[in-house]
Amino acid sequence: MRRRPGGQRRARARPRAPPTWWPAASSNSDHEQAGELGGAGDLVTPSTSRAATRSTPRVARSVASKISDSPSKSVQRPSGLLSSGERDLRAAGWSEVRASLLAMLAEAIEVSSAACDRLATQIREHAVPIDREESRLPDLDRNDIGNFYLALVAICHQTSPQNRPALEGVVGGRHLRGWDYLSARFEQAVSSDPQLLFPERWRTVSAYDVAELFRDTQFGERLTDPGGRAKLIQNLGDVMKQHGCHRIDELYRASDCRLASGHSPLIPALSKFRAYDDPVRKKTYFFLALMQNSSVWEYADPQNLGPPVDYHEVRGHLRIGTVIIRDPSLRSKLLARESVSADEDVAIRSAVSQVLLYLSQATGLKNASRLHYLLWNIFRSCCTRDEPHCFACPSTCSLPPRYVAALHSKSVARACPYAAICTSSGRSTKLTEHVFETDYY
Ligand SMILES: [Zn+2]
Repeated sequence: MRRRPGGQRRARARPRAPPTWWPAASSNSDHEQAGELGGAGDLVTPSTSRAATRSTPRVARSVASKISDSPSKSVQRPSGLLSSGERDLRAAGWSEVRASLLAMLAEAIEVSSAACDRLATQIREHAVPIDREESRLPDLDRNDIGNFYLALVAICHQTSPQNRPALEGVVGGRHLRGWDYLSARFEQAVSSDPQLLFPERWRTVSAYDVAELFRDTQFGERLTDPGGRAKLIQNLGDVMKQHGCHRIDELYRASDCRLASGHSPLIPALSKFRAYDDPVRKKTYFFLALMQNSSVWEYADPQNLGPPVDYHEVRGHLRIGTVIIRDPSLRSKLLARESVSADEDVAIRSAVSQVLLYLSQATGLKNASRLHYLLWNIFRSCCTRDEPHCFACPSTCSLPPRYVAALHSKSVARACPYAAICTSSGRSTKLTEHVFETDYY
């Protein structure tokens, strides 16, 4: 897990009260502020410097990749934009080395509009189920659900690490994996220790606490890096305390229910937490989607809710061909399952994020979160790392029933619904998601 001291530094003490969570608004226009502060429509630069990305959104937008309108041509990050981006980078005081690196990465990774359009056509053939979790809501007071998910999402990453056993266990007689196990165990823990839901307790959480909390009697200690996860929870408590906040709902009310518009939007406010300062905003969008899908929060600007891209989605898009790794050395790293750099990680995930935003429009769905849930479920269940269900789903296929009902006819044997347009189906060599040690996803 990477450690970055900047997260602590930014979370310095401030006077008090929710309004101090946000940067001063520079415009009265919701539209302009949405762009300035960063919602789903704000493209993310493939830069390594997370702090720099957030502090210079214009630079981020100017060098961000674009998808061509042409159905016959795959275009990513036109050179004109890159030149402009380089100028902006220099104006912002960044090194020319970094600008050069950025341009090199832009050439290395391509979003194929032709492949996106083929996938959009496939998606349009079926109804897309609403976006929600398959697991039930935690049995908690409605006022506590925000803090429950804030802490849980903060530590939910790398639950299925490559070359290591996945997180799993038995809770209440049910055999659960990954997020479902984390959620059920945390719910069980807060039922006996309700203070686990609040900032004062978070500040004292130790590595031992985290390891004990998620240790399973049958499968043992499967959750990796309990120390790093404890630090993320401690930081939640510290930042909440510094801002005089007891429940994250206070932030929601002060935002006027807005994600990336108005004077006190949620997305930039959440980035104050170390666990939520990912430039591609995986955990931020996941947490915000959970709060919406559990009907606890409702947003006045839902168009700013972007896709929480994780490794399942990266793997699926690399295989389908919507994202193409052009750079031979980067492609070799993926094939050999060697670790990529922080720049490359952000660049790859940003490209996938852009595919989702494009598909959201091209399919007419105009809901990146709902589209994410569709593709994430298919990739996670059917496009597995080692034995994908290209032409037949085994009886163990874990695709949730409501997606099976929407995508598959009872008269036809189940298989990956996108095999016909996938550049990897039937091939012996398939890319998997890139390897990168991170606590962002
Ligand atoms: Zn399957």
